[in-house]
Amino acid sequence: MSRYTGAVCKLCRREGKKLFLKGERCYTGKCSIERRAYAPGQHGQGHKKTSEYGLQLRAKQQARRYYGIQEGQFHKYFLMAERKTGVTGENLLRICESRLDNVVYLLGWSSSRAEARQLVCHGHFKVNGKKVDIPSYLLKAGDVVSIKEKSLDSEKFKAVIEANSGRPVPAWLECDAEAKSGKVINLPDREQIEAPVEEHLIVEFYSK
Ligand code: SF4
Repeated sequence: MSRYTGAVCKLCRREGKKLFLKGERCYTGKCSIERRAYAPGQHGQGHKKTSEYGLQLRAKQQARRYYGIQEGQFHKYFLMAERKTGVTGENLLRICESRLDNVVYLLGWSSSRAEARQLVCHGHFKVNGKKVDIPSYLLKAGDVVSIKEKSLDSEKFKAVIEANSGRPVPAWLECDAEAKSGKVINLPDREQIEAPVEEHLIVEFYSK
């Protein structure tokens, strides 16, 4: 599956908000949004009136980019969210949050979701004791994610974990720093999800 390999800060500038795609740099004055808060390209600084469709499209793109999900998969998540009981937009964000790469990032084992995806693909994690190398693997309440013992022998991997372990972990996850494992206590409520998106616009986008 193709993956975006261009400059990720351009994605934030296109969306006009921080999507936190670059780890530590996102929290410093080096962040491109802090320095150039306008869309990239020749017409980036021009005034543009956004249509209703444009707002819905941007909301969908923001969510996709924030979680690093391709269009096809994101649409599949929307269809799953529609079939579940409850508010479709919230269900959609909950599905995105429950991805293994997202949980690895939230547990403080990587500096960004992109790095978490790479670490998962390299087979560094187990779910309920079994190796899982699929970033889109969806976790459920009660699942335990742990770091493979062998991975902890790697100095490079250990350095990544140590650099990020101070980040606060959301209340719906439990991190055992000693055991290098984390548990999904429950899937998050909307208030526990930090994604900077208006999910009702995404629902409107796909419901046309
Ligand atoms: Fe780049 Fe991070 Fe700033 Fe986005 S939030 S523009 S990824 S540094």
